[in-house]
Amino acid sequence: MKKRIIAILGATGSIGTQALDVVRAFPDLLQVSVLTASHNADLLITQALEFLPSAVVILQAEGYIKVKSALAHTGIAVYCGENALEEVVQRPEVDVVLNAIVGSAGLRPTVAAIKQGKDIALANKETLVVAGQLIMNLVKQHGVAMLPVDSEHSAIFQCLLGEEEEAIEKIYLTASGGPFRGRDRAFLAEVTKHQALKHPNWVMGAKITIDSASLMNKGLEVIEAKWLFNLSVEQIDVIVHPQSIIHSIVQFRDGSMKAQMGLPDMKLPIQNALTYPQRQANDFERFNFLNYPTFSFEQPDLHTFRNLQLAYDALRDGGDRACVLNAANEVAVAAFLEDKIAFLGMSDLLEATLCQLNKIEEPSLNDLLAVDQQARIVARDLIDKV
Ligand code: NAD
Ligand code: MG
Repeated sequence: MKKRIIAILGATGSIGTQALDVVRAFPDLLQVSVLTASHNADLLITQALEFLPSAVVILQAEGYIKVKSALAHTGIAVYCGENALEEVVQRPEVDVVLNAIVGSAGLRPTVAAIKQGKDIALANKETLVVAGQLIMNLVKQHGVAMLPVDSEHSAIFQCLLGEEEEAIEKIYLTASGGPFRGRDRAFLAEVTKHQALKHPNWVMGAKITIDSASLMNKGLEVIEAKWLFNLSVEQIDVIVHPQSIIHSIVQFRDGSMKAQMGLPDMKLPIQNALTYPQRQANDFERFNFLNYPTFSFEQPDLHTFRNLQLAYDALRDGGDRACVLNAANEVAVAAFLEDKIAFLGMSDLLEATLCQLNKIEEPSLNDLLAVDQQARIVARDLIDKV
């Protein structure tokens, strides 16, 4: 495999730091040319001194001076602000952009990278939730690869290798069920952020951890899967599999099913995306069947975990509905983490925000960027009124 030059957006986060573990494991195959972070200047500096990229971006102005002076004399270019994200992904040496930003902030850099012909390794599912149709059109138009990093989508991607699109009957996205699996609404009404932040199987950023507790994460993943694999809503099912070993399943029209399995370790799908189409040998921990004598499966509880139902509804309604849902959810999760609303209040806020904004049937990218902002304003106003 020819050496691949990578831009890592969101390098200081859970996916970003694990991506750097993967780069460390393949020094002859992978090289970092761009690292970006929102505010964690100290970690960004440490990463830059180890990986010596040609450019780094820090979003927040406060961290900029610190990063700039720490990296003076290294030859690493240091930039600040949102627009810089769109510029660095276009650098000529970059082959692949790993987007590990959290939230719809990942959308514009993804668009800029695709338009410049860069392959995308996508962890930032919000990009496809907000603008899936437009993004997949751009992917086709510019002939780039869209490589999923989300473990479920990496699983489906791997199961589909060598298969024809028409042969897919349906897919099953597996869900761990999160920390509140089996609980009822009365229980959920009282849960704290500390309880919600304890995921049974995965250690992840705060936003996706809360989304996993509310099953919103699975809802976002249903929408992500629709666009990545060109499926109808009816072809996408969710099945709860608390062990998180089967990462997802494709059922073909002859009734045969393929599943992809492995330990719950994001380094596996990250490596898969960064070294695709090859499989490179690694020494990451191996799965042991005897540690998992039982696999189990359950129906997700859409009555208790309404966010998953809301995501299915938004996908069916189409237009800008998933964009509104996502923006309201980002505000809801932040408010829950700041103790401003209760756990179940998050679903109420999503519904209320969707009700307040008239639907746009065929939004352009600029429409979606505006709707994203508008939905945040509406959601924040609703919180202030409570
Ligand atoms: P995280 O919060 O740990 O890290 C987010 C990264 O993005 C950080 O480097 C942060 O500095 C940067 N960032 C935050 N806000 C930003 C903004 N407005 N603009 C630019 N950069 C910003 O999040 P994470 O858990 O690594 O998740 C990243 C993405 O990957 C999310 O979309 C998440 O849904 C997806 N994902 C994560 C996991 C996981 O195991 N963590 C698994 C599957 C998918
Ligand atoms: Mg996932």
